[in-house]
Amino acid sequence: MGQQHGKQVLFSQVKIDDAFWSPRIAVNRQVTLAHEYEMCRTTGRLDAFKLHWEPGTEPVPHIFWDSDVAKWVEAASYSLAAHPDPDLERKLDDITTLIASAQQADGYLNTHFTAVEPDKRFTNLRDWHELYCAGHLIEAGVAHAEATGKRTLLDAVCRYADLLARVFGTGEGQIPGYPGHEEIELALVKLYRATGQRRYLELSRYFIDQRGRQPHYYDLESARRGEKARGDYSYCQAHLPVRQQESVTGHAVRAMYLYSGMADIARETDDQTLAAACERLWNHLTGKQMYVTGGIGASRSNEGFLDDYDLPDDTAYCETCAGIGLIFWAQRMLQLGCDRRYADVLERALYNNVLAGSSLDGRRFFYDNPLAAYGTKKDSQGRLTQTTRYYQRSEWFGCACCPPNYARLLSSLGGYVYSVYGDNRAAVHLYVGGEATLAIGSGQVTIRQQTRYPWDGQIAIRVSPEKPAAFQLALRIPGWCQSFRLQVNGQDVSDAPETNGYRLIERTWSEGDQVVLTLELPVRRVFAHPSVRACQNKVAIQRGPIVYCAEQADHSDPVRHLCLPEDTALQASFEADLLGGVVTITGTARAALPGEALYGPAPLTKPCPIRLIPYYVWNNRQPGEMRVWLPIAP
Ligand code: ZN
Repeated sequence: MGQQHGKQVLFSQVKIDDAFWSPRIAVNRQVTLAHEYEMCRTTGRLDAFKLHWEPGTEPVPHIFWDSDVAKWVEAASYSLAAHPDPDLERKLDDITTLIASAQQADGYLNTHFTAVEPDKRFTNLRDWHELYCAGHLIEAGVAHAEATGKRTLLDAVCRYADLLARVFGTGEGQIPGYPGHEEIELALVKLYRATGQRRYLELSRYFIDQRGRQPHYYDLESARRGEKARGDYSYCQAHLPVRQQESVTGHAVRAMYLYSGMADIARETDDQTLAAACERLWNHLTGKQMYVTGGIGASRSNEGFLDDYDLPDDTAYCETCAGIGLIFWAQRMLQLGCDRRYADVLERALYNNVLAGSSLDGRRFFYDNPLAAYGTKKDSQGRLTQTTRYYQRSEWFGCACCPPNYARLLSSLGGYVYSVYGDNRAAVHLYVGGEATLAIGSGQVTIRQQTRYPWDGQIAIRVSPEKPAAFQLALRIPGWCQSFRLQVNGQDVSDAPETNGYRLIERTWSEGDQVVLTLELPVRRVFAHPSVRACQNKVAIQRGPIVYCAEQADHSDPVRHLCLPEDTALQASFEADLLGGVVTITGTARAALPGEALYGPAPLTKPCPIRLIPYYVWNNRQPGEMRVWLPIAP
């Protein structure tokens, strides 16, 4: 990539004060965290750490329960760092003490394999989530220590990681295995950064390097269990050594966590072959496998990828966690190179697929995020009858990975806004109001953004170095933006040099310098590659980063009857009282004519008003049909 690596500006250095994001972060803090805590408590996930489970009793601590609690600890820790809350801090103290109390004398820490199946420890890395849970506990320990300075959980996960470093490897007496559900790789890099202990980085690199090698560990492991080998390990991205992988495969969340870990290791160890593999996988994913909402993983059956361009809309799986994983990966690719291709995808997934993951009230969640919903109801003979049962968010799930994942992303959002490259470039990846402190060269610079983005394209950025300092301010011009204006202290600098989609303003900055970036935000029609069969002769509407949909609550005709003439004028207007305040898009569409004719010589449609809302706010009113891709009216 031929450029300096970046350094993420951590969430703790970024204070968000933003009309769009602050209310959502407040709901996350005030409602979602409390709700998820109660869900973890009432389902037995917290009590599982007491290790009191007796055979024959319910509930049985599940193999992935530890990860749900760990993600909650992580989310709550980030939230606490940004917003002191004694009640939350007390809860965190209790939970981290409880988790640490479940640690075994040798450092092992897993509720299921301690209380339920103690003889099965590390015997099925392929299918069970032991190392995945370990990864989440490690992330939680790091976050909790960073937020509170308390080391209860951090010390425990260090001991656990030390055990894993002894158990796993290619040395004499070690297990030459690696996780079927990746996650620990990126977590160990965080642990390395938090502690400075290089052995955690080495263990992460081992898990990545060992993956997919022959003789295949999962063959050996299944033989030891007396089972037939599965043969194809593309489901968990272990079909080949990672540097030989050309295309994204299998389970989407696993893939995103693996690629995130690969990008981390590429950056930390300056490994060009690993960076090149990341780049190939990135191009494949974003060129052939990604939805317009930034959702990924089209299929429910493998919770992952289908064939290239196979992106059905109403059956799209697009797990919230997969979109979040894509954001994690994009953020790490941005540290390998300042390139808007990564930030554009990060923004697309964030404002659409992932934000749809929670209801506006913060109490209900989507696991999968389809791009169309028509409702289904089967009668007693199995016939589809009238559409009255619609897809909706749920309060919780048996497999509850998504809700706490959403919570931890929202409460650490500040960490995705900026990077510093080398000693002289500050990059703004996302336009989010608030204030950040960046270390550039030997000095500190405060950057304050003020904006009503994504509804309005004007972003005012105040740059205040401690003392006058020369550096580049790199501002992303999003790929969707056709026209923009850039000013510094009232002077036009729109022709500032551009590199990889960022405009570079290089000058000696002094206290209070004012940059104004104005991005044009027209309503845009978006068309898919002709190979995407589900989108042929259809159009999606986008404005800025926001993808729109038609929802039943705004229409008297069924949404599945609506189609959009190519030449229809579309108006954008801000509606303060609708769905927390959104820009809607209105115009005249066409809808099916009432009548009995199945076929006819002319299009069987009539004009009708249409109102499109942002995709991320759908299903916050009464349940009903929804559609992102609208047929183009004949
Ligand atoms: Zn999930």
